Amino acid sequence: MIEFLSLKRVNAPHEAGIRQAIQRVIDSGWYILGQETEAFEREFAEYCGAKHCISVANGLDALHLVLRAYDIGAGDEVIVPSNTFIATWLAVSQAGATPVPVEPDAGTFNLDPALIEAAITPRTRAIMPVHLYGQPADMDPINAIARKHGLRVIEDAAQAHGARYKGKRAGSLGDAAGFSFYPGKNLGALGDGGAITTSDDTLAATLRKMRNYGSSVKYRHDIPGVNSRLDEMQAAVLRVKLSHLDSENATRRALAAEYLQALRGGPVVLPTVLADTEPVWHLMVVQSEQREALQAQLTRREVGSMVHYPIACHQQKAYAGSAWPALPIAERLQHQVLSLPISPYLTSAEVRTVADAVRG
Ligand SMILES: *Cc1c(COP(=O)(O)O)cnc(C)c1O
Repeated sequence: MIEFLSLKRVNAPHEAGIRQAIQRVIDSGWYILGQETEAFEREFAEYCGAKHCISVANGLDALHLVLRAYDIGAGDEVIVPSNTFIATWLAVSQAGATPVPVEPDAGTFNLDPALIEAAITPRTRAIMPVHLYGQPADMDPINAIARKHGLRVIEDAAQAHGARYKGKRAGSLGDAAGFSFYPGKNLGALGDGGAITTSDDTLAATLRKMRNYGSSVKYRHDIPGVNSRLDEMQAAVLRVKLSHLDSENATRRALAAEYLQALRGGPVVLPTVLADTEPVWHLMVVQSEQREALQAQLTRREVGSMVHYPIACHQQKAYAGSAWPALPIAERLQHQVLSLPISPYLTSAEVRTVADAVRG
């Protein structure tokens, strides 16, 4: 049996380091906003090539708080991909703004820059590209459009820790970026976690207060903030895992190359990779018009697979009642995408077994 994802196998190589880190936090007697969180924020900002990292409770909060800190809310519109995890849309909705979906390029799965300008209105305040499945979105044209129309660019980098676009890392490609450290992400904690990276000093200062009851001095509250913090335990665990992220992403890239080689000319459509980018293969997503039959075949051969995502955001009950534009690409992808197992612990032999199962 090849599981789609085993978090136990993901964390096993780091177990000794993680135990030490947790023990260090227990012994410190300090559990919220302390040395570990500060150190992780410093290390992750540097890793991403951003001036600041502000850690928060999860990825949804990271995205939502950036919008709030930029004063984007009721009456405003934010451009989002039509195909993404629902958190991208919910971040906009939670801020009180309206998500405006734009279709992806079906090969890279990422926001198609050629379709963005048609969606811009006088209410548009920001573009929120997602580096979906670990592939960087085409940021140069997106940033150029944003500059031309005076919009913010907020990366949803929840699936792209370490990915590079023209040499620069996700998290340094727009005005700000939201990351998630949900256990299954490329950089995953042993619980929930998230962070914002930015080189905007004013935004960073606002977010530092906002995540902590609007306060930077205890019991002084400058803005009506929230409680959204990464705890010391998760920060300590993430520091251990960050030190292995590059080598784990390199393993994912090698496995992805093996998949692409083994499946070439086969029965599924393979993802295309944008020139001058270094994806981090959070997911290995292929497309098939016979997706259900293919998934059943994999199950029979004891290979786990998943669908990311089976229902497009605009068709979710959570978004019923709004008038959405026609989104044929998102509606097609939801029936054709299939995610194959990919993780740093996977072996080449397992990739071959999966590829053989796909080829049937
Ligand atoms: C995981 C994810 C999020 C949200 O992260 P949480 O930590 O689960 O809140 C946002 N956007 C995308 C694309 C994600 O995959």
